[in-house]
Amino acid sequence: MRWQGREQSSNVEDRRGTGMRMGGGKKTGVLGFIVLLVGAYYGVDLSGLVGGDASGLGGMSSSSSSLSSQEEQNLNELSRVVLKDTETTWQSYFARNGQNYPAPTMVLYAGATKTACGTGQSAMGPFYCPNDRKVYLDLSFYADMKNQLGAAGDTAFAYVIAHEVGHHVQNMLGILPKINRAQQQNPAQANQLSVKLELQADCFAGVWGYHTAQRGLLETGDLEEAFAAAEAVGDDRLQKRSQGYVVPDSFTHGTSAQRLAWFQRGLKTGDPAQCNSFAQ
Ligand SMILES: [Zn+2]
Repeated sequence: MRWQGREQSSNVEDRRGTGMRMGGGKKTGVLGFIVLLVGAYYGVDLSGLVGGDASGLGGMSSSSSSLSSQEEQNLNELSRVVLKDTETTWQSYFARNGQNYPAPTMVLYAGATKTACGTGQSAMGPFYCPNDRKVYLDLSFYADMKNQLGAAGDTAFAYVIAHEVGHHVQNMLGILPKINRAQQQNPAQANQLSVKLELQADCFAGVWGYHTAQRGLLETGDLEEAFAAAEAVGDDRLQKRSQGYVVPDSFTHGTSAQRLAWFQRGLKTGDPAQCNSFAQ
């Protein structure tokens, strides 16, 4: 996508270089960090790749050094531009409904960082914490997407950011807290509700894609990149990759086909009202 030299969001907190870098320790305490997380947060679910094995987690986080400084600089700019684009998209939607859009803050960090949902760790992938309304992003996830998920390209990365912002929109619309309560009251339904939340966030990412396309900012092959990324983070794909078989009851994000379909739904209509995954 076209992002070079475009306007960047100012809602960015850059904690790179100040954080709790994981000291190159591949396996140390990574699981502990995950356990420390309190309450709900909404991320790209990498547990399929991880398979509950600490060494697998280490594998994910060990790639954090594999970005060149030029790549990191580009991703820094890309992320700020994409965040700005999501602000433009959602501001207009909220304004149409007579409301202000309280934009989220994007935190750039390296390794690990404190959040209002507990300690965030780059092995978790990008995530949204509703308690502080922040999107947490370690730019090295780009390398993980490319090398481990097979989803490369700037638009693939942009899709992930737009998806996390989608969770913020759900939070601002009151959907996130409502579903969270339903999950607590009915644990047997928790996974199914989680899938619906994720598919709606994918559809909201599609709404961002619609507006970005309308503004002529997408180039040939960009949408295919985003489609591939949506499929790459499907529960079935991740589980097959990590354990060789799928357990549908354990899905929390939806299948590759579902994620692609909901992203495309938002992309085609540009209408958040079409993103009601809970009605299905
Ligand atoms: Zn999500």
